[in-house]
Amino acid sequence: PVVTRFAPSPTGYLHIGGARTALFNWLYARGRGGKFLLRIEDTDRARHNEAAVEAILDGLKWLGLDWDGDPVSQYAQQTRHREIAEQLLAQGKAYRCYLGSDELAAARDKAKAEGVRFESPWREADSTSAPDAPYALRFKAPRDGETVVDDAVQGRVAFPNAALDDLIILRSDGGPTYNLAVVVDDHDMGVTHVIRGDDHLNNAARQSQIYQALGWPVPVFAHVPLIHGQDGAKLSKRHGALGVEAYRDQGYLPEGLFNYLLRLGWAHGDEEIIPYERAKEIFDLNGLNKAPARLDLDKLNHVNAHYLAALSDDEFIRRAAPFIEAVGVNLNTENMARLERSAAFLKTRCATLADATDVSAYLFLARPLTIEGKPAKPLKKDGAREILRDLIEALEDEAVWASAAQLDDKLQAFAAAKNVGFGVVGPPARAALTAGRPSPGLGEVLYGLGREEACARLADQAA
Ligand code: GLU
Repeated sequence: PVVTRFAPSPTGYLHIGGARTALFNWLYARGRGGKFLLRIEDTDRARHNEAAVEAILDGLKWLGLDWDGDPVSQYAQQTRHREIAEQLLAQGKAYRCYLGSDELAAARDKAKAEGVRFESPWREADSTSAPDAPYALRFKAPRDGETVVDDAVQGRVAFPNAALDDLIILRSDGGPTYNLAVVVDDHDMGVTHVIRGDDHLNNAARQSQIYQALGWPVPVFAHVPLIHGQDGAKLSKRHGALGVEAYRDQGYLPEGLFNYLLRLGWAHGDEEIIPYERAKEIFDLNGLNKAPARLDLDKLNHVNAHYLAALSDDEFIRRAAPFIEAVGVNLNTENMARLERSAAFLKTRCATLADATDVSAYLFLARPLTIEGKPAKPLKKDGAREILRDLIEALEDEAVWASAAQLDDKLQAFAAAKNVGFGVVGPPARAALTAGRPSPGLGEVLYGLGREEACARLADQAA
């Protein structure tokens, strides 16, 4: 059975790159009836706090990435890490290194000057000569040959062993180091596939050596290129939002961000719209790109707009309401009714939920509307008031208020009956109804406002 995992450090937010890594792991497991586990890499206790972990879990939940079991704390596994380090020592696959920091620096400099791999003199020391002094445990890495990482994305990557020196696996204070902890945890958690950023490719070589020394099966590695900004540079703050919660707060839908992140560095032909269920069916490691992906907000907006338009009217309202209220609109019964009558038109006009505030603003203007500048022009034309007055009369017929389409027909019929082009009727009516705010078709505007409010707005300007 497939077991994948996501292993974030508790940084306090779910990084967009981490979210994509989690998503790939989640999909791979979920598409194969496998398990998706979480491990918090919290060995750096100074940075650890519950809120920082919660923020990551919240981000995952929001994106729809559920995990199996409780998140594992790497810190809590220290005893086990130590036990394995001691086992390697007992088997002669690790050794005690008594180098102090000055000696270590000197030995490193010397190796560098000579162009050879740094090696602790304690590697070959007779254990009976051990001083009564603090020591670290070093892994006895192979000297010759190469270590190969057979990567599902990068292909076969060979590291000359001369470039991989003896890693400390247990510090002199007894603290296990990163690569040992990752190997032990992944093994203990039964992880079969490790999908993560390609900044860990070097670690994969180190970790492979440790797996081999322990006689444990090496998981399948898939190292995914990191996300870059539009300019091709590695993603950083200056490229915009880095945390998933910032995308949520900007009004992206989880299903939109999910689809976008999936397609960012993974492809299945030229399929663009890939919702959760479809993604589970078709995701595989083969489709992962070797080249870094670039964050493209236009594309994200495009995908998100698709999912917004696909929401039911009720669901659109449920999700858009907090954004609309945040700009000061009181969604009381009357305003809510306007929103309900308009949702079908509005939801196709937004890239994000935040856009819903702008595209719906005309619905919630206070009467009498303040109409100034260019939008006011059609109202100043000769005959405009008369047109509005007659229009109110024409709209008295209750029956036409049944739909936006019928209202549109009525407007056309009205213009025809008056023997004027629609260009004479439309502009003053739109000005009176919307004050020049962004708005859909006039029939939709009328329908959304409802008869009473629409006629009152027309009357305000006809007076
Ligand atoms: N904690 C590591 C990171 O956040 C993940 C390492 C791994 O996935 O093995 O980059």
